[in-house]
Amino acid sequence: MARRFVIAQIKHETNTFSPVPTPYEAFGHGAGPLYGEHAQRALAGTNTPFAAFLDLAAGAGAEAVTPIAAESWPSNRASRATFERLVQPLEEAVRAGCDAVLLDLHGAMVVEDADDAEGEILARVRRIAPAVPIAVALDYHTNLSPATVANATVIAGYKTYPHVDMYETGRRAGEILVRALRGEVDPVTAWGWLPLVPSVMRHAPEDGPSGDIIALARTAEREGRVLAATLLPAFAHADTPHTGCSAVVVADARRGGRAAAEELCAAMLKIAWDRRDEYVYRPRPLAASIAQAARIGNGRPGRPVLLIDHCDNCGSGGAQDVMAVVEAILEQGLEDVAIAPIRDPGAVARMVEAGVGANVTLALGGKTDMPAIGLRGRPLTVSGRVRTITDGEIVFGGPMYTGVKSHLGRSAVLATARAQIVVTERHHEPFDPVIFRHFGIEPTARRFLMLKSRIHYRAGFAPLAAAVVECQGEGVTNADLSVYRYAKLQRPIHPLDAA
Ligand SMILES: [Zn+2]
Repeated sequence: MARRFVIAQIKHETNTFSPVPTPYEAFGHGAGPLYGEHAQRALAGTNTPFAAFLDLAAGAGAEAVTPIAAESWPSNRASRATFERLVQPLEEAVRAGCDAVLLDLHGAMVVEDADDAEGEILARVRRIAPAVPIAVALDYHTNLSPATVANATVIAGYKTYPHVDMYETGRRAGEILVRALRGEVDPVTAWGWLPLVPSVMRHAPEDGPSGDIIALARTAEREGRVLAATLLPAFAHADTPHTGCSAVVVADARRGGRAAAEELCAAMLKIAWDRRDEYVYRPRPLAASIAQAARIGNGRPGRPVLLIDHCDNCGSGGAQDVMAVVEAILEQGLEDVAIAPIRDPGAVARMVEAGVGANVTLALGGKTDMPAIGLRGRPLTVSGRVRTITDGEIVFGGPMYTGVKSHLGRSAVLATARAQIVVTERHHEPFDPVIFRHFGIEPTARRFLMLKSRIHYRAGFAPLAAAVVECQGEGVTNADLSVYRYAKLQRPIHPLDAA
């Protein structure tokens, strides 16, 4: 009889300071979770761990049982009721009997009454199937918990940021599990955690110590000393007791793996700790950044300068309607700017009602208060012409989430004398040029692009850009961690309590 592999995706990066709610419908990137055959059809062939798990099941001649695929873009905690609707289909599938469980999880999911959602998912699966091996693929932005490690057989996480190795990571975790089922390896795990919260603006492999740590991990994997080695530089905006930088290494117990895993894990964390000050982000004033962008953009026509509005990145829980950076761009008179995206369902409704070609004056954005950081929403009055209206259904063609669909909701472009502003009903981080091209805006033909993103923009936009200017606006993804009132974080922790 064919083996049964249960493959599921339950994925959310929870910013516990975010004003954005996380209803059940937010999963499925805005279209609701997918079940069974629908999940397989939607994600097969995409750049996701889930797709890698499907391929591994096929390669092993196993039946792929796919109870649920559910990912929401980052926002605040989901309710217990929503979480139960996501987890129960997985539990039922495992209860029906299986030979392996392969989970595409995030690693920074928090639920209203549970700080460690992944730990709970794994503990519940483990209770139902104590002897079944479980492989887990995690996001780079994981706050690794003891419950996650205790209940997983194999853990592997992304090694890239932007996350362009999602499929590869699923493949790595799943392959170890398949080999374990065949009796070829006996996975053993070492892990460690540091009282260190690296800034998201400084923890990409290209920016700080992470690159050297990941190089060490890749070498050990390539040389066969370990099976999977992962650095998890944390998600700073989830306030939990296990928020912090960690490393997790899986090796083969039969080949002296335990010692190798422990040694590598310690070496990876030592670099992170020794170089912890490099993980601190030091912003410059907004007006100075815009002026710098203007100087570069005016000198180099033909390739856009990117203005990165990183404090309001909806890809980390931002409201995506903070107008501080847009205001500064318009005030300083930058010309030929394309901006994406501002989330403002009311403004979209006004533009749809007015119709393409109509002139409108909008109180744009600024509808969302951010009580967790003491900030009120502040709209910006903008006049322009309605240039485009669409249904906001997009498919990613760039290197990140390749082939995955996303749903912006109804969307419109407001064209002012100097800027074209993409306005959407739903949240969406711009990491793929489709966010402009869907609206008939060619990003490479613009002088400036303003993106509500922190690092993921690099996936689709870095290759097009003449230069990148990080703009310190406002919002719940501020890289200055002192703006957050943490209640559950372990203290002391670096850099908040650094001497
Ligand atoms: Zn991430």
